[in-house]
Amino acid sequence: MKEQKSFIEVTFPIKEVSEESAREKNIRHGHISTLHIWWARRPLASSRATTYAALIPYPSTEKEAKEKAKFIVELSKWENSLKEDLIQKAREDILKTNGGKPLRVLDPFSGGGSIPLECLRLGLETHAVEYNPVAVLILKCTLEYPQRYGRQNKVKKDEGLFNFEKEESPLIADVRKWGEWVLEKAREEIGKFYPADEDGSVPAGYIWARTIPCQNPSCGAETPLMRQFWLARKENKMISLYPFVHEGRVEFAIVKKNGDEWQVVESSIPGFSPKVPFNFEPEKGTVSRAIAVCPVCGGMVDDKQVRRLFQEGKAGQRMVAVVLSRPQGKAYRLATKRDVEFYRKAEEYLEEKREKLWEEWGIDPVPDEEIDPNSLKPRTMWLYGMSRWGDLFNSRQKLALITFTEKVRLVYNKMIEEGYDKDYAKAVVSYLGLGVNRLAIYATTFGYWHNTRELVNPGMGRQALAMTWDYSEVNPFGGNADWESAISWIIYVLSHLTQIPPVETEE
Ligand SMILES: [Zn+2]
Repeated sequence: MKEQKSFIEVTFPIKEVSEESAREKNIRHGHISTLHIWWARRPLASSRATTYAALIPYPSTEKEAKEKAKFIVELSKWENSLKEDLIQKAREDILKTNGGKPLRVLDPFSGGGSIPLECLRLGLETHAVEYNPVAVLILKCTLEYPQRYGRQNKVKKDEGLFNFEKEESPLIADVRKWGEWVLEKAREEIGKFYPADEDGSVPAGYIWARTIPCQNPSCGAETPLMRQFWLARKENKMISLYPFVHEGRVEFAIVKKNGDEWQVVESSIPGFSPKVPFNFEPEKGTVSRAIAVCPVCGGMVDDKQVRRLFQEGKAGQRMVAVVLSRPQGKAYRLATKRDVEFYRKAEEYLEEKREKLWEEWGIDPVPDEEIDPNSLKPRTMWLYGMSRWGDLFNSRQKLALITFTEKVRLVYNKMIEEGYDKDYAKAVVSYLGLGVNRLAIYATTFGYWHNTRELVNPGMGRQALAMTWDYSEVNPFGGNADWESAISWIIYVLSHLTQIPPVETEE
């Protein structure tokens, strides 16, 4: 007797499913990619389509096979990932091939969780295994907790995929509630280090330049290292920093392009407006490939010297500009003494806070583990004298991260006190922990200001750490990468995951 082949052994709509998989990269709201970064997470579209095609038999007629291929393409679409009738049909097809007995699947290398998630969606009893603890946490938050605690009672179909206003899952409600609690407690303690301007504008971020001393013995000026000077580079909004020299020091102005002319909006020297040449090119910074040019004397510092200065602890940093959130859009101003003062205060408070938590936790709250010098990519950090993971953050970022971490830990105790179940409290706190991680990928000295989108770009955009000369520091209480936005991205994902219908198992 001829053995029956599975659909995927005979054919598969590769082109169409590949297109759906590629398209998925642009989908953000609700997609598990926004829960936590994972290096090689498979697209959900191909994971779902291949799992299904591997489990159903190849039909007996060409016509049926064609229809099945069409069905697979529909099934792979993100828009259909919560479509009840379609998912139900796929589940029934799989169940039928196994004589009505639920199938059990084991993914021994689950990673970012795409394949087990799609197995779950297709109604399989899913077991996921990983030895990387980060992946295990991601898997628990993707597969286990939403299934165990998160089920929404019923979401009205015609109200869209992500509507979770009506009948919210208790898990989502608690992640939101305790996320807000964390925000309030953190704000009470460290909100004062990110003061609003007198007109009420809230800083969305601070733009910093790392600095080195010019190596020309007759100069020695502090050289701000900036890859480029643009702040906003949009068709109708062209704003840039403009460096100029005043009394042997590099100063800055904020300039705006009007037609062909540059107009000075603000200058760091009161009453002095530098003359900006019409051919000023903001994309040409003071550093390129680690070779720096001093704007004061024009002297060059080569890459070896630049790295040596960093290794010897002779590099510094200068806060250059502040980004403000205003109802009409982002606004920019130069950093003032007051801005630097608040940073210094945060720096002082960090020392106190760090000591206190060190005593309480028994470990340094700022990660003091060594960056593995043998690992290919992080090794770059060693070239700049950054040998510990804590070196990737400035003082105020460290303070923010350890404070949010502390508050998240407190949530657990508080929930137990209030009589919540231990395992459930652990689930809620796990999502808040992922929130801290979301904050951390933005709150490093490796995030930079994206001048066309006017947003802070996270530090690991290219899945590696590359030296960032001019970085942007986010305000965790305002801006595109604050705590609130971290938690809302997690809630979007939870809203999706909790709408996956329950899986029936044999027991
Ligand atoms: Zn110089």
